[in-house]
Amino acid sequence: MNSNSYFDIGANLTHESFDKDFITVIEDAKRNNIKKICITSTSIEDTKVSLKLLENDQNFFITTCGIHPHYADTFEESDIEEIKKLSTHSSVKAIGETGLDFNRNYSKRENQIICFESQIEAAQELNMPLFLHQREAHKDFMNCFNNRDLKVNAVVHCFTGEKEEFYEYLDKGFWIGFTGWICDPVRGKHMTDFIANMPLERIMIETDSPYLLPKNLKIKGRRNEPKFIVEVAKKIAKLQNKDLEEITQIFFENSQKFFNL
Ligand SMILES: [Zn+2]
Repeated sequence: MNSNSYFDIGANLTHESFDKDFITVIEDAKRNNIKKICITSTSIEDTKVSLKLLENDQNFFITTCGIHPHYADTFEESDIEEIKKLSTHSSVKAIGETGLDFNRNYSKRENQIICFESQIEAAQELNMPLFLHQREAHKDFMNCFNNRDLKVNAVVHCFTGEKEEFYEYLDKGFWIGFTGWICDPVRGKHMTDFIANMPLERIMIETDSPYLLPKNLKIKGRRNEPKFIVEVAKKIAKLQNKDLEEITQIFFENSQKFFNL
């Protein structure tokens, strides 16, 4: 594995914007040194679509299995059995995307919490990592881990918060995923100071494609793709005053460790 290998730990490749040219997107990613992609699944149905997609290249893709907070209103107890069944597939490497989203509030808050806690329990039972989403719900999100001795890896993906939240997560043992959000000179500005000084051993990078195209890229259509992950690495390398290759290798190794590959 050369040191310029990228691992996109979160790409929403089941999104309809990839329906027409999925194969091209993947070929482009591979040409740009992306060696692994974790397809983010956001529901039971979506997990099944992810599993179909990854048949294109089982060595290249992995996926998650779980229910996004946006869909928590539809959550039923029996979904956990379904998650447990799907998670036996050899390409399912994490439970999620799960968490709390009090920004959009597409589902009732109390339902989000029930759906989230059930999946934390499931991940613990299955001994699988958690792929986590948190937006404007930091306190309640942390409360869901109260009285829980978390024995599995957990990544808070697409971190966009303040320094205090960042270190609270690290103290809790969580891993952090950064996206192109940090490349935005306005929306990412509050993060530059702590990114410059953060320890790297639990940091990973992702595109969150097709969302969050790095702001410095002027692309027609604004669709983000895994091949643009290099922008996230470049931004962190610059802030940390480190070599791009060195930092890229750290992120790649972290990701393999996180997903137990
Ligand atoms: Zn998310």
